[in-house]
Amino acid sequence: MPLPPDHPDRPKFVSRAAKVPLKAIVNLGACTGCEVCIQVCPIPGCIDKFGEDPSNFGVFVNYDVCIGCRLCAKDCPWDTIRMVPTPSVAGHQTSLDSQPNHEHAVFQRPELVPEEIRTFVEKLPFTDPTAAPLFNKQNPQVPNLMGPK
Ligand code: SF4
Ligand code: SF4
Repeated sequence: MPLPPDHPDRPKFVSRAAKVPLKAIVNLGACTGCEVCIQVCPIPGCIDKFGEDPSNFGVFVNYDVCIGCRLCAKDCPWDTIRMVPTPSVAGHQTSLDSQPNHEHAVFQRPELVPEEIRTFVEKLPFTDPTAAPLFNKQNPQVPNLMGPK
């Protein structure tokens, strides 16, 4: 979970995270849930798992406190994390919002993923023929998920 609002270090991390040029995005489809990234991330509460569910649903990054240090991307044993320009995830609260689709099993678990995130992609007006190209332009991190670092 994100740092609690009353955590004494939270204002410091949020202030720093608001100015960084890069954010980390996890490719949920390839994440094994090994938690190496959680161990190396210097910001408490930045990378989190989906509760204590015994199923492996991977991890996600909280963008309000991610300082873009790249340690997680560097150390992920499964090469599952990419650093993307902060503007490309503008308006996204977590790396869940930034998934290229919501086919991952976790999106079928309303108790784990809030409604506003589960419906993030579906809410986009893809019936408008101009919407999909615009979405892709605003989310250049999507092809990066499978591309080279
Ligand atoms: S280190 Fe990589 S594979 Fe392991 S939990 Fe983090 S993102 Fe997933
Ligand atoms: S880039 Fe740094 S601060 Fe952001 S999730 Fe990765 S290890 Fe944590």
